Amino acid sequence: MAGIPFLRPKVISHVHYLDFLSQMEDSRLYSNYGPLNSLFEDRVVNEVFEHTGAVVTVNNATSGLMLAISQCKRPQARYALMPSFTFAATPLAALWCGLEPYFVDISQDDWCMNENLLDELIESLGEQVAVVVPYATFGTYMDLTYYQKLHDAGIPVVVDAAASFGTIGENGHFGKGFTGNIVFSFHATKAFGIGEGGLVYSGNQQSIQHIRQAGNFGFSNSRESIFQGMNSKISEFTAAVALATLDEYPQKKAARQQIYGLYLQHFTRLKMFEEGWVVQESEGSIPHQFFSVLCPEDELNINIAEWLASHQIESRTYFSPACHQHRLFSCYSSKTLQVTERICERILSLPLWEEMKEDDVEMITERLRAKR
Ligand SMILES: *Cc1c(COP(=O)(O)O)cnc(C)c1O
Repeated sequence: MAGIPFLRPKVISHVHYLDFLSQMEDSRLYSNYGPLNSLFEDRVVNEVFEHTGAVVTVNNATSGLMLAISQCKRPQARYALMPSFTFAATPLAALWCGLEPYFVDISQDDWCMNENLLDELIESLGEQVAVVVPYATFGTYMDLTYYQKLHDAGIPVVVDAAASFGTIGENGHFGKGFTGNIVFSFHATKAFGIGEGGLVYSGNQQSIQHIRQAGNFGFSNSRESIFQGMNSKISEFTAAVALATLDEYPQKKAARQQIYGLYLQHFTRLKMFEEGWVVQESEGSIPHQFFSVLCPEDELNINIAEWLASHQIESRTYFSPACHQHRLFSCYSSKTLQVTERICERILSLPLWEEMKEDDVEMITERLRAKR
């Protein structure tokens, strides 16, 4: 494409994992939580989560959500409480677990589920709440204090942290020590992109052990299915790519943060924030997947996206339409979704990929300025 694509995924080059592939050929083990997978999981626990908790790889975050929800949901209960401002995979995972999504509004500033509204809803739904599934919006280091309390009080929490692998905050990596489940995506379009893949983390080792078993047909040690599982394992090929990516990740993250910083600089220079553009109030250092921003209140994001497209700049409006606006999910319950609906008219996701140049960022920002 002439012009600027929205994303230009760059999974690590094969030269960096040829040694791992040779090891795989020597071992004759190609899947089933093989040696490369074990090495990757061990390295993630030790290096990323500083020897705290446990992880299991999954073939994508959607499977990870399904497994985590199905293993921890309260039996007999009906609802999975979640924001509508998330990717379709979140409510889909709940449906696959036999639950109904129940959509909750987000907060104006951090675009994460509004905890006050959630609290009221939990109060009124009582025993019907099966699980709560917050989304750490766009990789933010969401404060999990409230959710840890919920989880401790017997309301299971599974965090959709699809874009948060590599997000570091005051207590280390996002999710570290949290005893619910945290689900990360390694899809090619995510910052830790390996093609297809994902990871479930928990500060509770037993919970990960259950998910590992569930991801391998619910087998006991004697290969007898003892509960409803499926196959969510990654192959050793995928583990090889993941291992090589781990080594390269600090540079990838730095490149993404640099581009995000350039957007902020050029938005500031062109006085865009005075004009009513708003960025997410996020926490922590984030390996940004793209640059998300709200356009001024008197504009519509789709018009701006169209204007950019007419100048060969590709953009998106993640996550608009919000889930409750999708045909499949429109029949499910929600309380007021006013903030979600307002943000859905303003959210714009701008290009971000590792080899972008400052000129690209400058050109995009100036195009946006010229529209006004
Ligand atoms: C990408 C994404 C997913 C799905 O991840 P897969 O690995 O592609 O299944 C789920 N939730 C959110 C919020 C995402 O951004």
